[in-house]
Amino acid sequence: MLLYNSATRKKEEFTTHTDGKVNMYTCGPTVYHFAHIGNLRTYIMEDVLEKYLRYIGYDVNRVMNITDVGHLSSDADTGEDKMLKGAKREHKTVMEIAKFYTDAFFSDCAKLNIKTPDVVEPATNCVNDFIKIIEALLDKGYAYIAGGNVYFDTSKLDNYYVFNNFEADDLAVGVRDSVSEDKNKRNKTDFVLWFTKSKFEAQELKWESPWGLGYPGWHIECSSISIKHNGEYLDIHCGGIDNAFPHHTNEIAQSEAYLGHPWCKFWFHVLHLNTNNGKMSKSKGEFLTVSLLEEKGYDPLAYRLFCLQSHYRKAQEFSFEALDNATAVFAKLISRIASLDENDGDIDNDTVEKYRKRFIDALGNDINTSLGVTCVYDVLKADTNDSTKLYLINDFDRVLSLDLIAEAKKFNEKKSAPSESGEDKEIDDLVAKRTQARKDKNWAEADRIRDELNARGITVVDTPNGVTWHR
Ligand code: AMP
Ligand code: ZN
Repeated sequence: MLLYNSATRKKEEFTTHTDGKVNMYTCGPTVYHFAHIGNLRTYIMEDVLEKYLRYIGYDVNRVMNITDVGHLSSDADTGEDKMLKGAKREHKTVMEIAKFYTDAFFSDCAKLNIKTPDVVEPATNCVNDFIKIIEALLDKGYAYIAGGNVYFDTSKLDNYYVFNNFEADDLAVGVRDSVSEDKNKRNKTDFVLWFTKSKFEAQELKWESPWGLGYPGWHIECSSISIKHNGEYLDIHCGGIDNAFPHHTNEIAQSEAYLGHPWCKFWFHVLHLNTNNGKMSKSKGEFLTVSLLEEKGYDPLAYRLFCLQSHYRKAQEFSFEALDNATAVFAKLISRIASLDENDGDIDNDTVEKYRKRFIDALGNDINTSLGVTCVYDVLKADTNDSTKLYLINDFDRVLSLDLIAEAKKFNEKKSAPSESGEDKEIDDLVAKRTQARKDKNWAEADRIRDELNARGITVVDTPNGVTWHR
């Protein structure tokens, strides 16, 4: 399998520390708000990567943290703790906020068929592990205490800028983010391992430590949780591209300083989902969630397909028109699969091998998901019987996770359900009114009609050949 490695900036043959086994780590969500569909793009692409590794026979151990402490508003250790911000916004405690948004995150993941990692570990469960590593870093001379906080000394490393080509001045993120610089730092790129002093004394969660009552920095939690559950050698680390610097650079710095040897070989970064206003982000306050898409009548799996249509190393632009297109493509694909007959002869093993190879090659070339989806169309067009086609589609769906067979079954069940012709006529009329409103560019009226139809359990699908609807 060829995979782009952000650490070497090259596509490389994927190899692991132990034959047949993959130790995988994913930066989990900061649970102070709902995950937006941009965050979920990253988790969808990581899910495909994980499922593909399993598909080609690897035994994968995937670990993910839940950031419920220590992630400050600026990634450069300044600003308010994001969790505290969320708690204040909703007049709740930090732990209440963490529980609510952790549950919401996994409920969104389930709707998008994103598998829950083998290990999910909240940072607040691991404070003693963080303290142990910080003590070792102090002992080895990689860390220092200043103004009550413990800092990592980046000048002690030969190569700190793993994910960045820029000069030190450009990397002064604290300055760049127009928040005040921390005068305790010996070098601009040093980062906090343990806080006892912050401008925000109202920090709700604090723990006893050898350096006083305080709380951990964000970066140490990922290094520590990964080492705890994946051991000293990590095969692949995933995250959105905004995590590459400073978060992942700092993870490498402290993990390798602590372990005394190289830590993680492959770095998999997913580019952002953007809107026409730029990157979708939680801190901007305005963002789209899975629930919001559902309220508008979209199937979360159509969003998954939308993500699979583009490569993870390219930024993807979100628009409702693009999602409408993906919805139409999904509906058409399901209707084609629904027309296949599962009792159409024996499965042809030669054809299975031929198309499986094509699918493995498509995804094995740096997780080319759109080519993976094309393989489903290739199977539909293949010169073989329907049983073989259904077998292959089901097989590819172990990685794509679009519920292709189950959705096709549902489609056939609905088709054979008795029609309520009086109501159907009324719905046809409403759909026609909506189409007219869209032609007149009266978007508010078109949305209103769509909402009314959704409230009645009707999904409207815009296809290049016109508008269709289903219950
Ligand atoms: P957070 O919950 O902010 O810690 O982010 C969770 C994950 O989503 C991280 O891997 C981020 O890098 C990623 N992420 C944040 N914004 C976006 C975006 N607009 N598009 C894709 N991934 C993102
Ligand atoms: Zn992380």
